[in-house]
Amino acid sequence: MTDTAPPARPTPDPRTAEARHVIGAGARLPLEVVRGEGAWVFDRGGARYLDLYGGHAVTVLGHCHPEVTRAVQEQAGRLLFYSSVTWSALRAEAAERLVRCFPPNLEKVFFVNSGSEANENALKLARRFRDRRKVITFRGGFHGRTYGAGSVTALAPYDRQHKDAVAGTIVCRWGDLDEVRAKLGGDVAAVIIEAVQSLQGCRTATREFLQGLEDLCRARAAALILDEVQTTPARCGAPSASTLFGITPHLVTTAKGIANGVPCAAVLVDKGLSETIQGPEVGSTFGGGPLAMAACAATLRVIEEGRLWERAARLGERLRERLRGVPGVVEVRGLGLLVGVVLDREAKPVQAALRERARVLVAGAADPHVLRLFPPVTIGEDELDQGLDALRDVLAGA
Ligand code: PMP
Repeated sequence: MTDTAPPARPTPDPRTAEARHVIGAGARLPLEVVRGEGAWVFDRGGARYLDLYGGHAVTVLGHCHPEVTRAVQEQAGRLLFYSSVTWSALRAEAAERLVRCFPPNLEKVFFVNSGSEANENALKLARRFRDRRKVITFRGGFHGRTYGAGSVTALAPYDRQHKDAVAGTIVCRWGDLDEVRAKLGGDVAAVIIEAVQSLQGCRTATREFLQGLEDLCRARAAALILDEVQTTPARCGAPSASTLFGITPHLVTTAKGIANGVPCAAVLVDKGLSETIQGPEVGSTFGGGPLAMAACAATLRVIEEGRLWERAARLGERLRERLRGVPGVVEVRGLGLLVGVVLDREAKPVQAALRERARVLVAGAADPHVLRLFPPVTIGEDELDQGLDALRDVLAGA
């Protein structure tokens, strides 16, 4: 046997090939993550990092959650893909569980593959619904990098394409209901907003602002699109930001964590609006495919059965309590375990020191003073404390 076994392939250093061929390689962290388990990731040399970054707010249940991994492995051995031209019990379960995270008017859902694609579809449906063209968005908002979603993204440097934005894009000041009232005329199809502007630095909407927007949209027959790509599932400390704030958007988009890392996204649609959708108007080859649906159903099953949004809320409170009064911390923003820590100094060197000295991964933000933390909702209290202690030590210069 040993004579005929192929020689082990040497593992090439990915940095050489990536730098040569892959666009965007200049922005890589000096890290090759090869394995993950719960709140931890491991590099090629076996060094372990506490992952409060979650692969960009994705791994809501932590890495390789056993139930999600089992569901994906079983599905991969049974049927990797078939398009949604056929029925699927897994898609039915994923849809039922997803819909239960939102207010009852959002009874209908269709699956796509990314947050940008979800927002493209929501914008298209809203514009088509009343045959209006204009869309209101907010400074600091991020909704994706495709053409339509990029047009309503009003955050530097992602908004460089704004000169080329879809005609009729109106950018309003965050929190300014009067400006929205003045600009939300009968030609506006939709208002799109995140409850927490995560990329901006976790600027968080007030209940009054969101409810005021909903009232204005209803009064002017425009659609309210809530981008819940980062707030769901469970991360905001409630099943969704819609339920947390008591609002009933006409359209909601979600992605990131809904399949705990397998590409999957969804658009939830108000029942009335959904009745106007013509069959082939929405859809995608891969959207709602078996592998994504196995991962999504398993992720949402674990979250629902464990009521893990309650855990996110509790751990979020613990985190805020422990960061209160820490020298260097000016403010803690966000909801639940979607956290922006405002520092009294530039965040980038703190982020680097956390990674290099304490082996803790966190995210930066467009606001240079903000660090963002996206711990899995399954993280242990001791693990969370370990990360917060490391932050306190780095800020103290220890
Ligand atoms: N909306 C929000 C709020 C996001 O944070 C993101 C991604 N960072 C997107 C949309 C776009 O999602 P995707 O990268 O999956 O296209």
